[in-house]
Amino acid sequence: CGIVGLVGKKEAKVKDIINGLQKLEYRGYDSAGIAFSNNGKVELVKKTGKIENLRKELNSQLEKEINIGIAHTRWATHGGVTDENAHPHTDCTGKISLVHNGIIENFQELREELKEKGHKFKSETDTEVIAHLVEEYYEGDLFEAVLKAIKRLDGAYAIGVIHAEEKKIVSVRKGSPLVVAHNENYSLLASDVTPILKYTKDVYFMNDNEMAVLEPGKIEFYNVNGEKIEKEPVHIDWDE
Ligand code: GLU
Repeated sequence: CGIVGLVGKKEAKVKDIINGLQKLEYRGYDSAGIAFSNNGKVELVKKTGKIENLRKELNSQLEKEINIGIAHTRWATHGGVTDENAHPHTDCTGKISLVHNGIIENFQELREELKEKGHKFKSETDTEVIAHLVEEYYEGDLFEAVLKAIKRLDGAYAIGVIHAEEKKIVSVRKGSPLVVAHNENYSLLASDVTPILKYTKDVYFMNDNEMAVLEPGKIEFYNVNGEKIEKEPVHIDWDE
């Protein structure tokens, strides 16, 4: 299982993100998916089986220029191996999309609570509750909404969240691996350094309970109380 994400000043192509995801194949998975957009409308494509299946499904969209995208390889823990259960998962409005590695232990009670509030669920995964929680807390600022949502979660996670109206990726780690990095034009996240090395060799290894807000060519770090923190990059010497 793995996650990758990219947000750029310049357009990237859908295939760049899929190529990045492919570098994480060795981690094992049963499904793959991607959410991407270029100024506004988020498109979602997900498929069980090999990343090659996702490539086929994307077809001509592989060449599409995008400025934000998140992608996922899933190793199912909660909910069967189906297209619907593959990530990214979305909220009711379809504006919030998210990828998640790990397990949300208290998802059953959160799901009941959110259903009572009127949220409609599209999958059987533990992950989908995070998208609806972020929706519940969203008041125009994705970072603030994710900060509130993660306070409700028990379990392990590395997540990347996007909102159709904000050009950023909000990312958090607790118990699952997460690396972020940026060059002049792009900011990236991934489960390990391999999808990132093509863009830069200076990477930030996220620790538990750290958040990163990725904007084109720039990353800010926070603790889970929403306070800014400083992190030092690590230079990776080996080649791609
Ligand atoms: N628990 C989540 C699911 O089953 C994420 C699994 C993963 O880490 O790939 O969908």
